[in-house]
Amino acid sequence: MTHGTVRIDPERCKGCQLCATACPQHLLGINRDSLNLKGFHPAQLNDPLGRCTGCALCAVICPDVAITVVRYTPSARTPVGA
Ligand code: SF4
Ligand code: SF4
Repeated sequence: MTHGTVRIDPERCKGCQLCATACPQHLLGINRDSLNLKGFHPAQLNDPLGRCTGCALCAVICPDVAITVVRYTPSARTPVGA
C-alpha cells in the first residue's frame, strides 16, 4: 500500500475545511491555535500512525492550492512524486 503525507501552506489556506471532509482517512482538521496573516485558522494534518495513503483527494479539492502531497514507495519510503 502506498503511503504519503501532505504539506499545507498555512498562508494559502482559508480554513474552509473542504480537505477535512474529503479525506477518507479523516486525517485533516483545523488548527484553532494558529492564525495566518489573513486571519484564518489553517488546516493541519494529524497523522501520528502514518495512515495517509497519498491519495491526493485533499489536494484536488482544495480551492486555494494549499496542499502538496508526497507519496512513498511501500517499502523504502522513498518519495516517488505527487
Ligand atoms: S492524501 Fe488522501 S489520505 Fe492523505 S491527507 Fe490527503 S485525502 Fe487524506
Ligand atoms: S481545502 Fe485548502 S483552503 Fe480549505 S481548509 Fe483545506 S487546505 Fe485550507
